[in-house]
Amino acid sequence: MAKRVLIVGGVAGGASCAARLRRLDEAAEIVLYDRGPHVSFANCGLPYFVGDVIADERALLVASSELFRDRFRIEVRTRHEVLAIDRARRTIRVRDLAAGTERDERYDALVLSPGAAPIRPPLPGIDLPGIFAVRTIPDSVRIRRWIAERRPTRALVVGGGFIGLEMAENLARRGLRTTILEKLPQVMPPLDPEMADPVARHLAAQDVTLHLGDGLAGFESGSGSEIVALAESGTRLSADLVILSIGVRPETGLARAASLALGPRGGIAVDAEMRTADPHIWAVGDAVEVRDVLTGQETIVPLAGPANRQGRVAAESICGRARPFRGVQATAVVGVFGLTVACTGASEKGLRRAGVRDFERVYLHPGHHAGYYPGAKPIHLKLLFAVPDGRILGAQAVGLEGVEKRIDVIATAIQMGATVRDLAEAELCYAPQFGGAKDPVNLAGMIATNHVDGLMPLADWTALGTAPAILVDVREPDEYAAGHIPGARNLPLSELRRRHGELPRDHPLTLYCGVGQRAYYATRFLLQLGYRAANLSGGYATWQALRGAGVVAG
Ligand code: FAD
Repeated sequence: MAKRVLIVGGVAGGASCAARLRRLDEAAEIVLYDRGPHVSFANCGLPYFVGDVIADERALLVASSELFRDRFRIEVRTRHEVLAIDRARRTIRVRDLAAGTERDERYDALVLSPGAAPIRPPLPGIDLPGIFAVRTIPDSVRIRRWIAERRPTRALVVGGGFIGLEMAENLARRGLRTTILEKLPQVMPPLDPEMADPVARHLAAQDVTLHLGDGLAGFESGSGSEIVALAESGTRLSADLVILSIGVRPETGLARAASLALGPRGGIAVDAEMRTADPHIWAVGDAVEVRDVLTGQETIVPLAGPANRQGRVAAESICGRARPFRGVQATAVVGVFGLTVACTGASEKGLRRAGVRDFERVYLHPGHHAGYYPGAKPIHLKLLFAVPDGRILGAQAVGLEGVEKRIDVIATAIQMGATVRDLAEAELCYAPQFGGAKDPVNLAGMIATNHVDGLMPLADWTALGTAPAILVDVREPDEYAAGHIPGARNLPLSELRRRHGELPRDHPLTLYCGVGQRAYYATRFLLQLGYRAANLSGGYATWQALRGAGVVAG
């Protein structure tokens, strides 16, 4: 008899599971349930629909119910909510939201892909009109309608993560003066603070007001349709439209009610084939916990790529073809007012939280293509790697051009278990308008390899000002005069061969320049003469970001 597969949730994980199932099993009966009016819609496009970049709602519908039926013989039941699972009888209770009726449906295999719900803390005034979250097309239609009818001029975005920044950009695009309220002292929580600093400066340059390091305490209604947000500090922020983007919570209600095990992070627990504790039930997407490939710990990564891949893995498993899910590394990108911000793998703070100590980091600021070709823009790149073996642990990058390409290369290298030597050796595309003969990825690998090989000791940025080392700025005097790290003396690289005797040989020397390259040359020169030199990776550019983020004093 044909297998009956029921899927709860018809968007990223559920829809890709259904389509893959059909390609593997022509006989299976596949039914996709979603309580919303659409399946397979582009959640990731919603901020741009609010911003009117995507003007037609229909463009958000990646695949229609008819396409699923005609092309794949998959039955789609929208506006159908799955209320409960009876594991003993292998049935689900389904409510037809339009007709108001309920019935039980039998399954041989059940796939849960219910996603994650925006967090809406039970704070005073949270349900006032004009306060929205963005998850579905109807949510964004409501925001568009509010903008069209109420003509708001001020927006408040609560939460400065990926969705918050995308919403801030799109509300600004609609002409609203936008403020971001964020509990952490930085935007973009997945990034380390010094990598988030250029993002904050870019937002400020676009007239987005940042209110960082302050949590949301509640809302009050003001005059007319004004909403006053109350911050924990006592600050009052007025707006005519509020977006809540303070994170998402896995939808585990169905799983919990059916006594399916949850993991330590509160997501549905699954094995590498995305199977839950029940051999007839699989779960995928934002609702599940999976292994972080870098820390080995369970984690929840609410991103579309993992959800899609997990949907395929579940389909393979249902069809008896074990293709284990490799785990997640949280590769992500966001565009904000022309700036691209991307990351993959572990952050420094994530490593510290996980108790990892044997790692190092390098910073670099290369142009996104050859400097001699017009228009090169800097990429601010941080690479984290294990010591002493050089295994790549993570990377973060910020810049105007070519950012996501570099992070994608490093993400792939991480998947392959590569080391910084592999990055140094990577053979990548080069023509002047696209990259460099030494691509930023190669450079990151070379710098890190120099450290791993003992050729370039790295000085500790956080020890600046406390360590006994003498701080030496090896830039030219005019650069030094324009701004330098407090306490640094100037000895330009161009004069170092002649004047190195001015430095003590028996005392640690910490060298820096503009971005780290000249200080590297100086470090190599001095080390070979028997000096105790180390390089402050990323130089003055990194110092400015670290100072901006409050990591070092300035
Ligand atoms: P979803 O895609 O959320 O699908 C779950 C579906 O299940 C929903 O339609 C829901 O209505 C339905 N459902 C839940 N419970 C039931 C039930 N009991 N019965 C019936 N139906 C039910 N990720 C990226 O990688 N890049 C991006 O740029 C990006 N941008 C985003 C922007 C926004 C505004 C949002 C909201 C998300 C964004 N994401 C992005 C995240 C990405 O969309 C999710 O990670 C992905 O959609 C998760 O897939 P899923 O199948 O787990 O859940």
